[in-house]
Amino acid sequence: MVDILNLTFEELEKFLVHELGEKKFRARQIWQWLWNKYVRDFDQMTNVSKQTRALLKERAHITWPEMVKTQVSQDGTTKFLLRLADGALIETVLIPGSQGRLTQCLSCQVGCAMGCTFCATGTLGFERNMTMSEILGQVLVAREYLNDVAERPILRNLVFMGMGEPLLNLNEVMRSLQTLNSDFGLLFSPRRITVSTCGVNPEGLRELGESGLAFLAVSLHAPTQELRAQIMPKAARWELGDFIDALRNYPLKTRERITFEYLLLGDVNDSLEHAKQLVRLLAQTKGKLNLIVYNPSGDESDPYKAPTEERILAFEKYLWSKNITAIIRKSKGADIKAACGQLKAAEKTEAEGAE
Ligand code: SF4
Repeated sequence: MVDILNLTFEELEKFLVHELGEKKFRARQIWQWLWNKYVRDFDQMTNVSKQTRALLKERAHITWPEMVKTQVSQDGTTKFLLRLADGALIETVLIPGSQGRLTQCLSCQVGCAMGCTFCATGTLGFERNMTMSEILGQVLVAREYLNDVAERPILRNLVFMGMGEPLLNLNEVMRSLQTLNSDFGLLFSPRRITVSTCGVNPEGLRELGESGLAFLAVSLHAPTQELRAQIMPKAARWELGDFIDALRNYPLKTRERITFEYLLLGDVNDSLEHAKQLVRLLAQTKGKLNLIVYNPSGDESDPYKAPTEERILAFEKYLWSKNITAIIRKSKGADIKAACGQLKAAEKTEAEGAE
């Protein structure tokens, strides 16, 4: 059985023509039902003949991730725990912005192999890559959920910042970006999509850049190789200087900039000296900085603490004094553990406790 949501448009055309003996134009009709009208049953595809629908049912299936749990935070952040067909659990988060617009944070792997020391997903380890169908299934679930919300908020932007490292699942991430960009499908232009990487390989970065299918964000979190190796040991295998060189050559459109994410960890990377090192590191890159304030998990095993207000402000002020755009972002959804991997980690702990 073919997972029909896992076919790109061209693959769907080939499947219909070569496997089902259908005409090419059927692909567009079926694509619209799947990605634009969100049907989950071939029988709802009313402009497709009964005979074709029967063939589709025989040879293919439409499978969405199953909603396991929804949590809504006081600030409106909504987190979904989803179960994939093989039982694997993943998370996706809807983050409220201005004028009722939402950004959805997508996962691209079950778990993550990168093991960043401040990240709940990193502590869970890597299970497997997600398929395009599973990655985009998160968007379908979110759109359906939002249909029932009275204010009808608009899902405006997508960020690949959930569980997993996108460049380690590049093939499925690239296929997802192509499908998101399709004219008569989900209709997300590259300007509304950001892919975030902690920097794992030059080839993947180059391919993403050349595709022009998304903006780039970089999980930096440390201004020196030494500190990066301490808090992001696997990402640091790509030497920081070489990574930054590659970013200086990253293809950017006019006025486009790379977003550097910098998680401020109390007394670890938040001093004025770190800010100075950061300014030196980012010289000649076209970028802006998001300063994210660390939100301690509350677990005794958490090695990190939140930075003080004073240090946050001094850090930000120094960057601005050197003409670096730096915006402080408070973690959203703290009360529902919306940082990546936290809901799944909590779920796992609950399940283990119940055993
Ligand atoms: Fe993986 Fe991202 Fe967490 Fe690092 S921060 S462990 S890359 S999910």
